[in-house]
Amino acid sequence: MKFEQRIPRQTSADLFTEAKEYFPGGVNSPVRAFRSVSGPPLFIKEGKGSRMTDEDDNVFLDFCCSWGPLIHGHANDYIEGKVIETVRKGTSFGTPNRMGNRLGKLILDNHPYIERIRFVSSGTEAVMSAIRLARGVTGKTKILKFDGCYHGHVDSLLVKAGSGLATFGTSSSAGVPEAVAKDTLILPLNKPELLEETLGKYADDIACIIVEPVPANNGLLIQDKEWLECLRAKADKHNVLLIFDEVISGFRVGFTGAAGYYDVKPDIITFGKVIGGGFPVGAYAASAEIMDHISPVGPVYQAGTLSANPVAMAAGLAALELCLTPGFYELQAKKTHAMATAIEAYAKEKGYPLHVPHIGSIFWLAFGNERITRSDQIDPANMEYFKVIHHELLQTGVYLGPSGYEVGFVSGAHSVADLEEAVRKICAAMDVAF
Ligand code: PLP
Repeated sequence: MKFEQRIPRQTSADLFTEAKEYFPGGVNSPVRAFRSVSGPPLFIKEGKGSRMTDEDDNVFLDFCCSWGPLIHGHANDYIEGKVIETVRKGTSFGTPNRMGNRLGKLILDNHPYIERIRFVSSGTEAVMSAIRLARGVTGKTKILKFDGCYHGHVDSLLVKAGSGLATFGTSSSAGVPEAVAKDTLILPLNKPELLEETLGKYADDIACIIVEPVPANNGLLIQDKEWLECLRAKADKHNVLLIFDEVISGFRVGFTGAAGYYDVKPDIITFGKVIGGGFPVGAYAASAEIMDHISPVGPVYQAGTLSANPVAMAAGLAALELCLTPGFYELQAKKTHAMATAIEAYAKEKGYPLHVPHIGSIFWLAFGNERITRSDQIDPANMEYFKVIHHELLQTGVYLGPSGYEVGFVSGAHSVADLEEAVRKICAAMDVAF
């Protein structure tokens, strides 16, 4: 199929040519390179509310929201004001600061499952630290993860399933030593018998089970509560810690994330994205007993020059204060549900193979009509449909993340009218794709 550009993209194209002189592949994070969709990546110059503008002055209704952090949309006035107020007093001191206390208090006061939190600067760093903590607490080495869950670019988690079912991993990235990969076991999601069998064999060596309770990096693989309860029960039975990686779901599907949504208490939770209000913040949190293993109290070392940077803390604090506005999450979920069901109704009427799984304000355009709960149920051939839909949406001013495996995010800045516009445009794009 030929992807005819009906909007100007030359400035972005020129900037991308220039960027390739500086950065590998012209980007500082790989999916941004638009490898699986049409045309050069858009260079975005500004955003306000639900929309952002590229360097060619095209305006897009944005459903990527910086890959999830912008739960209040672009350049939210309240967050912006707090950031500017803070930045004027200096940007970083490398000391404890009141902003950190305030964000820590706000989170712990409103989350029943955690008693201590440590701020870091990215989701990857949060996960890396949580794994080290789990190993430090248990004195065990191996970790168990699930196929289809992404946990950042941590060596031991850039691992794919080997052959066989309860597999020891092999590295999925050059530069990850096989010696590291083999300490990661990988199982398919939602297979309780396999989990029991694997823990039965290896629990003496397994420090933790890590899972995205709302897997949202290989499509949106919404799990049943029973599966998460099963993880909790098996972790307890086999004396293994349970880590919920809530870098996406934390403060997104509700203030208490997936742990609260499903009412399942993990031992350690990792956060990122929304927690920083658009600034680089991650965190990991647990009971005081577990967190007291962290330096300087305990023997597990972890540190960071810019950890709990006051400007980032101010942004996170402002964002989470807005999240606590009564009814905030209910409203986002309601808007997202209305959009998803309208798209699905159109697909059904036309007989198009597409449905829209959604939870809170996260949604995914899923091809086929069957519910998808594991990554092996995704047919890569369908990504050709996504490419057409993505292209058509760019032409009509709607921006989805540039891969069919990525989820979309609705923010507080998306009005009902914005979402109705999106429905119309997505339906028109489906007419071209199918
Ligand atoms: N964990 C999950 C569930 C994620 O979705 C991501 C990023 O998308 C990460 C960890 C890594 O976070 P970061 O990109 O901030 O390092």
